[in-house]
Amino acid sequence: MSTFGSPYRGRFAPSPSGPLHFGSLVAATGSFLEAKTRGGEWRLRMEDVDALRCSRETAGEILRVLEACGFAWDGEVIRQSRRRQAYAAALAKLMAAGRVFPCACTRRELADSLVAPDGAAIYPGTCRRGLAAGRSGRAWRVAVGAARVSFDDAIQGRVVSELASEAGDFILLRADGLYAYQLAVVVDDGEAGITDVVRGADLLASTSRQIFLQQCLGLPTPNYAHLPVAVNAAGEKLSKQTRATPVDGSRPGSVLLAALEFLGQQPPPELAGAAVQEVWSWARANWRLDHVPRGPALSGASQNVSGWDNAADT
Ligand code: GLU
Repeated sequence: MSTFGSPYRGRFAPSPSGPLHFGSLVAATGSFLEAKTRGGEWRLRMEDVDALRCSRETAGEILRVLEACGFAWDGEVIRQSRRRQAYAAALAKLMAAGRVFPCACTRRELADSLVAPDGAAIYPGTCRRGLAAGRSGRAWRVAVGAARVSFDDAIQGRVVSELASEAGDFILLRADGLYAYQLAVVVDDGEAGITDVVRGADLLASTSRQIFLQQCLGLPTPNYAHLPVAVNAAGEKLSKQTRATPVDGSRPGSVLLAALEFLGQQPPPELAGAAVQEVWSWARANWRLDHVPRGPALSGASQNVSGWDNAADT
């Protein structure tokens, strides 16, 4: 059971903008084990809302690698690219409630804005009280006002955010007509009845915005646990941008062992070379969320974990 009083329901939500890399596999492993050891469901959602950066082929490849690594998800795979109507309905609800406003500002006009800790421009509020004469809206933003959001992360501890200074009025519908990740994730988690979100700490800074949107939309707030993020020797998050090596689905046992070690679990040395199902049996019997290292990032440099490094340029 979750603390919601409803059955635990977790999820893994990869973005098919690049192949599955070690960092995503860590999120998949942690969210799966937490869900299963708490008797819950584990859903899968393809976050292909950004159609310009995602492809069907990559999504198919991610599913194949997950299957090869022995993951099994509950229910159908949800694809954000098919859920535009749900996002439009949520935006319409926020419009009716007067919580959003059209914004005419171009990227260049915002170039001098203050920058949030996650690198995004903090909106200076130019269009918040209406569009200037002769200008038309390109995007839709939500007005955050003086919102202060706090939550207790099961791994990272208490997080308190002042949205105005940390994010500003953020975009829900982009100028290119695509719905923003922040809106899509909140609508999808809400509709799927997700009770617990276990994901990488690179999304810790987004969580306050998501909780704020949940509150605006009258949706429940799930429990959160943000796992440390795998970074390369240069301290960069493993991602398509840093050319992280894709997970090798032909060595699933060792890949899974590496993810478990990264997550602070201590699989016995005898499991080296074992079949993936054997590694899963051990993991399901021994998973401990409280053994996951705290802190937002962990480098592979000091730990000899295979499948982790970023060296190969594929
Ligand atoms: N799609 C996001 C990513 O791959 C994860 C979003 C989430 O778990 O909320 O980084």
